[in-house]
Amino acid sequence: MSKYGKEIAIGFVPVLLAFLFFIGVNPVPLLLVAVIAGSLLLMTRMRGGAGLVGGERSKPRAKLPSFLTFDDIGGQDRAKKELIEALDFLVKPELIEKFGIRPLKGILLMGPPGTGKTLMAKAAAHYTDSVFVGASGSEFVEMYVGVGASRMRDLFKEARQKATKENKANAIIFIDEIDVVGGKRDGGQQREYDQTLNQLLTEMDGLHTSESPRILIMAATNRKDMLDSALLRPGRFDRHIQVDLPDAKGRLHILELHARNKPLAEGVSLRKIADQTFGFSGAQLESLMNEAAIYAMRETAERIEERHLLQAIDKVMMGEKTDREAAAEERERVAIHELGHAIVAESVRPGSVSQVALSPRGQALGYVRHNPPGDKYLYTKRYLEEQIMIALGGSAAEEMFYGERSTGSRNDFEQSLGLVKTMIDSGLTELGIVESSMLTKEEYSKANADILDDLTARTRELLAAYRPVFDASLDILKKEETLSGDQFRELLRGVELQPTA
Ligand code: ATP
Repeated sequence: MSKYGKEIAIGFVPVLLAFLFFIGVNPVPLLLVAVIAGSLLLMTRMRGGAGLVGGERSKPRAKLPSFLTFDDIGGQDRAKKELIEALDFLVKPELIEKFGIRPLKGILLMGPPGTGKTLMAKAAAHYTDSVFVGASGSEFVEMYVGVGASRMRDLFKEARQKATKENKANAIIFIDEIDVVGGKRDGGQQREYDQTLNQLLTEMDGLHTSESPRILIMAATNRKDMLDSALLRPGRFDRHIQVDLPDAKGRLHILELHARNKPLAEGVSLRKIADQTFGFSGAQLESLMNEAAIYAMRETAERIEERHLLQAIDKVMMGEKTDREAAAEERERVAIHELGHAIVAESVRPGSVSQVALSPRGQALGYVRHNPPGDKYLYTKRYLEEQIMIALGGSAAEEMFYGERSTGSRNDFEQSLGLVKTMIDSGLTELGIVESSMLTKEEYSKANADILDDLTARTRELLAAYRPVFDASLDILKKEETLSGDQFRELLRGVELQPTA
C-alpha cells in the first residue's frame, strides 16, 4: 500500500479539489496553505537538519561512520593517549571538582591534512558520550560584518539544544580549519574575522564546569603559527595535541582498518605496502585501499592482489594513468630519463628501485618507484647528496644521449634545489652553520651552484660508466612499459660496466 502512496495522493488531490468546487467551497486558500507548508518542509530537508553549522556544506569530506571509536583510528597512539587523558575532565567531573582543577575548555589538534583530526574529535564525542557538532572555519567567512559572529553564537546554541534534546550531559563542538577565523587579529581590514574570533573567545569564557550541558571545544589546524595568541592562552585552547603523519607501524594499522571490509588475496603483505608508503597520510592510505579495490573490480578479479595495491600507490602518489600518447622519439627520451634516475638510485642505494615505468600518470610521462629504506627523519650530508644525484640522473642521461636537456626535468630541479636548501639550512655545506637570511643573494647562489655543479659532474661520470645498461634495457622498457626492480637489477648485473676516464 505505502509503495503506491504517492500515486494515490496525486490522484486524490484533484478529485478532492473538484469535489470542493462542486459543493461550492473555494479551494484556493487551502491550496496556498499546502504550497507554503510543502516549501517549508523541502527547505528543512535540504538543510539536512544540521542547522547553520553542518560542517559538510563548505568542504566535501570522506564519509564517516555514524559513530566512531578510538579503535577505528589507526596509528596515532600517542595523540590518542593524550586526548583520552584530556577528556577525563568530561568523563570524571567529580574528580576534577574534588581537586579544584580548572575546567579544560579547548583542545587544539595540530597536524597535516588527512591525518585523522576529525576522526579524533568524533571518537572523543563517543568516548565522552557527548553530542557532536561540527563546523569548518571557512563557514564563518562572510562578506557582511557580524554574520560570522552570529553563526558562532548559533553553533554554541545548537550544541546546547542538541545535548538537551538527546538528554546528554556533554557536548563537543569541533571547529575544523580554525586558522581561518582564529588568525592573528590586525584590527584593520579583517574586521569580520576579528568579530567572529571575539565571539568565539566570549563563548569560551562563558563556559563553566557546573553548567549543563558541559561543553568542550575541539579545533583543528595545520597552521598553529598563524593563530592569534588570545586563542592559545591558558583557559582557552591550552591543550595542544600533535597529530602527525603515521609511521610504518601506524600505516600498517590504518591499512588493516581500511582492509576490514575488503577481500584481500592470500599472501598479500600489507606490511610491505606500509613500508612503501612513507609520508602518506591516513586519508591517502584510505584512498589507496579504495583504489586497489577498484582496480581489482575493473579486472573482475575475485580478490585484491598485491599488484592492485602497488598500482594504487602510484595512483595516489602521481594521479591516474593518462592516455597521452607520446611520439616514439619522446617516449625514448622519457625512457632514457627514467633509466637515468633508476641507474643512479640503484648504484648509490642497491636494491632501492621498486619499478621503472614508462606509462604517463598525472603530470609525469614516466616514473621510478623507490623502495624506501625505512622511515627516515634524519638525513646525513651523504644521503642528501645521493638524493640530489638521483634527481639529477634524468637530465644527465638526456644530455648524455641527446646532447641537451628537456623541460621534463623541471620537477627534478625543484626537488634538488629544495634539498640543497635543506643542506645549507642544516649547516651541511662549506658555508658552515648559517641562516639563509645571513647570506647575500650572491653568496647563496654561489653555494647552490657549487653543490649542484659538483653533483652533476659526479652523476654524469657515474652514468657514463653505466652506459651499456641503457642499451640493454631501453628496448625492453619501451616494449614492456614497466620494469620491476628485480628485472632491472638482473639487467644491471648482466652488463659489463665501462671504465671511467
Ligand atoms: P583535514 O585537516 O583535511 O580536515 P583531518 O586530519 O581532519 O583532515 P580526517 O577528516 O579525520 O582528516 O580524515 C579523512 C579520512 O582519512 C577519514 O575519513 C579516514 O577514512 C581516513 N583517515 C585519516 N586518518 C586516519 C587514521 N589515523 N586511521 C584511519 N583512517 C584515517
